[in-house]
Amino acid sequence: MVELTFYGGVKEIGGNKILLEDNDTKIFLDFGMSFGKRAEFFEEFLTPRTANGIGDFLAMKLIPDISGIYREDLMEYLGRKPIGPDVQGVVLSHAHADHANYVSFLHKDIPIFCGETCKYILDAVDEQSQRNIENEVLNFKKRPLFRKNYKNLPIERKFKTFRTGDKIHIDSLEIVPVAVDHSVPGAYGFIIHTSEGAVVYTGDLRMHGTHAHMTDDFINASKDAKPVAMITEGTRIDIGKTDESEEKVYRESKQKLSNNKKLSIVDFNFKDVDRFTTFYKISKDLGKKLVISFKHACYLERYHKDKKIRSPDSRDGNILILKPKRLTGTYIDEDYTDWYIKRRLSYPNIITAEELTKKPDQYMVVLNFWYFNMLVDLKPYGGTYIHSLSEPFDEEMEISYDRMMNWLNHFDLRFVQSHCSGHICGSDLRKLIKTINPKVLYPIHTEHPGLFRKCSMPSKMIKEGRIYKIY
Ligand SMILES: [Zn+2]
Ligand SMILES: [Zn+2]
Repeated sequence: MVELTFYGGVKEIGGNKILLEDNDTKIFLDFGMSFGKRAEFFEEFLTPRTANGIGDFLAMKLIPDISGIYREDLMEYLGRKPIGPDVQGVVLSHAHADHANYVSFLHKDIPIFCGETCKYILDAVDEQSQRNIENEVLNFKKRPLFRKNYKNLPIERKFKTFRTGDKIHIDSLEIVPVAVDHSVPGAYGFIIHTSEGAVVYTGDLRMHGTHAHMTDDFINASKDAKPVAMITEGTRIDIGKTDESEEKVYRESKQKLSNNKKLSIVDFNFKDVDRFTTFYKISKDLGKKLVISFKHACYLERYHKDKKIRSPDSRDGNILILKPKRLTGTYIDEDYTDWYIKRRLSYPNIITAEELTKKPDQYMVVLNFWYFNMLVDLKPYGGTYIHSLSEPFDEEMEISYDRMMNWLNHFDLRFVQSHCSGHICGSDLRKLIKTINPKVLYPIHTEHPGLFRKCSMPSKMIKEGRIYKIY
C-alpha cells in the first residue's frame, strides 16, 4: 500500500514536504521552507530563536513534529531522545528555498538526492550566505553553539546527484527524474514507480520558458507511465493564457536600455540562469559591460563549471565585479573578512562605484533592492532601472516595493517592469493534466486548490498532515 502525507505546500505557494510511504520505505519529496507560514508569526527583526534550536520552529508549526527525521543534536537539545533516521531519502525537485531549505533540520544520515546542477546552486548559496539554522542545507554545526565548538568543522550531509536518464533506487522504489523548465536550472519532475503504480510529481515547471521542450519530455514520459496519482503544482491555476516569454523580456528590456545614456540598472534573481543569459546578451548587444556582485560571482562560477549550462566565467571580458564598501570604506584588502570576497580580491575585473560614475552609459549593473544603499555611490541620476522580478503579491512585499519606488524617484530613475514567470499558467496546466491523465490529482503549491475540481479526474482537496492512501 502506498500513502501520501502533505506537510507543506497545502493552500500555500511553496514549503513542499511530501511524505511518500510504500510498505516499509519512506521518502520525502522536497523539504522546503514555507515563506507564508513563517511570515504569519515572524518578520525581519522577529525571527525564530537560533538559541532554541528547532524548538521555535516546532512550537509555531513551521515544521511537522515527526519522529526519526530531525538532527540528533536538535532533538537532544529539546530534551528528546535522538533516534536514527526513519526516512530512506529526500528527493529534491530544485534549489529554490521553498523546496530545499528545511533539509537544514534533517538527520545527517538521510541521503539527499538532487540534480547535479541543483547541487551546484546549493553550493553557491552556501558559499556566500551567513550561517543560520535555516540554511544549513549542505552541512551544519552541532547545537548548542558553544564558543569552543563553533570552530569545529561542520558535519556534511550525504548528497547523491543525478541527471536526466539516471534512475534513483531507494529500497523498492524506482524514481525516474526528468528535467523540466523552471526559473532555476537543474529543476526536475519525477515519475515514482511504487508497488501500486506510478506516482508523478511535477515539482515547479512551466511551458513558456526557454527550455519548454524539457517540460514536454516530462509530460510524455509521465503520460506513458499511466500514473495512478499525480501531485501537481498549481501556483497560477487562476491565470489564463499569457504572451510572456524570455524572448519578450529580452526584446522589451533591450529596447528600453538602448537609448539610455545614463547608468542602466537591472534586478533579477541570479538563480535564474536564463534571465542572466538574457541580460548578458543585452549588455553585449548594447556594448555595455555587465556589472555583478561577489555573491553573483559565486553562482556564475558554478554555472560556468556545469557543462550543460553555457555560461561565461565571472572573469569573462564582458563582466565586471562591483566592490562593496566595508569597514574603512576605502576598498583596502584588509576591509574584507568574508571568505567569498577575500578569495576573489585578486580578480582582474573588479571595479568600484566611483569608477562606474565616470562613464555610466557603458555599464549595466545588476543590483538587488537589498543593496540599494549603493545607489548613493553609483549616483544613477536619470538612468533606467529594470525590475525583472514578479510584482508584489503580499503586504510585506508592497511595503518594500513602495520603498524601492522612493529610491528610484530620489535618483530620478526610469522604472521598467519586465518579467516572465517560472510557473505554468492555468490554461497550459489544464492541458498538461489532461495529457498525463492520472487517475487522481493532488494539487499543491497553490492558493486555489478548488479550481482543480473542474478537471476531469477526481482532485483531492488536501488537508495538511492527513494520510491519503493510493490503491
Ligand atoms: Zn516552489
Ligand atoms: Zn521553484
